[in-house]
Amino acid sequence: MQKINILFLVLVCWTLTGYGSEPKDPVKRDTIRATVLYGEEVLFDAVDGLSDGQVSDLRDSILKFHGPNRLWSYINLYLSLKNKSEEELVAYIDSLFETEDVPYALINQINIYLANRPEQVTFATPTDLFVGSKHSRIPATDFYPSWDDSKPNPYPWGLGNQDTSMSLLLSSQELGEFHLPVENVLTSKFGWRDGRMHNGIDIDLEVWDPVVSAFPGVVRVAKYYGGFGRVVVVRHFNGLETVYAHLHRFKVKTGDRVEGGQLVGLGGSSGNSTGSHLHFEVRFKGKAVNPLSFISFEEKILINDTLVLKRTKNGYVSYPKGTVIYTVERGDSLYKIAREYGTTTYKLAELNGIRRNSYLYVGQRLRVI
Ligand SMILES: [Zn+2]
Repeated sequence: MQKINILFLVLVCWTLTGYGSEPKDPVKRDTIRATVLYGEEVLFDAVDGLSDGQVSDLRDSILKFHGPNRLWSYINLYLSLKNKSEEELVAYIDSLFETEDVPYALINQINIYLANRPEQVTFATPTDLFVGSKHSRIPATDFYPSWDDSKPNPYPWGLGNQDTSMSLLLSSQELGEFHLPVENVLTSKFGWRDGRMHNGIDIDLEVWDPVVSAFPGVVRVAKYYGGFGRVVVVRHFNGLETVYAHLHRFKVKTGDRVEGGQLVGLGGSSGNSTGSHLHFEVRFKGKAVNPLSFISFEEKILINDTLVLKRTKNGYVSYPKGTVIYTVERGDSLYKIAREYGTTTYKLAELNGIRRNSYLYVGQRLRVI
C-alpha cells in the first residue's frame, strides 16, 4: 500500500506541475502536494482546493498511467457531485455501503459536501425578516399548525423540514425589549452533557426568586410536566417559544398575554432537579436552539435585534444578524483562525458547537464573531 501511496503522490505532483506543459527547471518547478490516497482510502479534502480543470487532469493522468480504476471512478464521481441531486447522492452513499471495501473516507466527503453545498447555504436576506403581529390572539400561526396547551413540545418531528433560513425580529419599539429571565450565574450551558443533550441553559436562583418572560407573547403551557416540573412555555410573536422549567409557583396561566420582563413564575426545584435553578430553553418549531448564540449573558442584552435561523439536518443553527462567517482554507487551524480574529479556540469551539481538537475541513464555515 505504501508503494501505491508514494506512486500516486509522485504522479499527482508530476501531473499538477509539469505534465502537458513546457519542461521546467527541475529544481525550481512549483509543486502542489495533493494527497489523494490515505491507507486504502481515497481522500478528497486536498482535491477540494484544486480547480475542476486540475482535478480532470489528475483523473486523465491516472487513466493514462494505468492507475487503479477505483480511484479513477471516485474522481469522476467527485467531479459530478455538483450535478447530482441530494436524493441521488444519498442513494449513491447507500450503494457504497454495499461494496466489498467500503470507502468510508469518500462517504464522509460526500456527506460533508452535502452538508455544505452552496445552494443549501442560503442566508436570510432582510426581505425574509419575520416581525409577527403583536395583536394576534395566537402568535406566529404562520409557523405552527396547532396551539396545544397540554405539553411543552407537541410539534411533529418533521415540522420545518422545508425551511432554509430566515430572520426573526427579536426586539423593536413596538415589540419591546429583551429581558434575561433571571439575572444570576449561569450554571450549565447548552449542548451535550454527560452523554445526553441539554436543550437549554441553567441559571442559578433561590426558591421564590422572580422569573420573567424574555419577550412578549402568549402563555401556551403552564402546568406540571414530567422532568420539567412546573413549567411555563410562552409563544412569542416572532415565532420563538421560550421554556421556563423547575418553577416553584406559577404567576400566569394558559392564554395570558405577557410582556417582556413580566413575571411568569417563581423559581424553584420542581421536577427532575437537584437544586433550585431555572432551566431556560429557546425553541423554534419545537427544535431547541442555543440561547447563548444570540444573548450576551454577561451584558444581559441581545447581541443583535435580529436573529438568523438556518435549517440543518436535525434542527436550526441560530446566530445574530451580522455574524462573521469564515471559510476554512487549506493549512488552517482553530488556533490560527482564533489569533486572526482576536478570539480564543475555546470561544470558537463554543460558538460553532465543535470540539477544540475537531478536524477542520477545507470549505467548512465557522462563525468567528
Ligand atoms: Zn437544564
